[in-house]
Amino acid sequence: MDETEETVNYGLVGYPVLQTADIILYKADTVPVGRDQVPHIELSREIARRFNNFFGDTFPEPQAKLTESPLLVGLDGQAKMSKSLDNHLDLAATPEDTSKRVLTAFTDPQRTTRNIPGRPEVCNVYSMHQMFSSSTAVSAVYSECTTAARGCVDCKRQLAGSINDFLEPMRDRRKEYESRPGYVREILDEGGKRARAIAAKTIEEVYEKMGLARG
Ligand code: SF4
Repeated sequence: MDETEETVNYGLVGYPVLQTADIILYKADTVPVGRDQVPHIELSREIARRFNNFFGDTFPEPQAKLTESPLLVGLDGQAKMSKSLDNHLDLAATPEDTSKRVLTAFTDPQRTTRNIPGRPEVCNVYSMHQMFSSSTAVSAVYSECTTAARGCVDCKRQLAGSINDFLEPMRDRRKEYESRPGYVREILDEGGKRARAIAAKTIEEVYEKMGLARG
């Protein structure tokens, strides 16, 4: 093969198809995703549409559902927040560990000393304040940062507090479920039963429309 020739491995092609199958097998019409996943949902729509064109109306064309914060940048300020990049906040972490992680967050690189005014618009800590802190707190962060009235460490401590407040009800629910493993098992079993029934019906329909015999 020519060295300049581009190769496309199966993972690149197969993964979005697998994702599509995971969606349309259950005839889902809405998928909650982050912004980085929107192209995959578009591909899922294309695949569903193509199948429908060939074999008749079968699958809804799934739509992406974004939240108000569709993309969370990682603590390194470089890429999306991701466990594999180790720039993430672990939802199961304790408030203390979360605070420690937040203190490592990347800030405005030009603010090398406390008396240099910061630029919230390039600071990931500020972006996270916009997601997790009250609007009053966000305004204060902006004005105190741009006038060098606050230091980055204090700013991150305040952010850690907001994130911990946000996560508190989730941590409480997690604790509750951890204390009732049998109940969690029941929910999973019941959900699995319902999902398998829908999937089996869809597979039947697909085999029939494609004229395939069941083995
Ligand atoms: S004070 Fe806050 S918003 Fe400003 S640069 Fe530091 S961490 Fe970022």
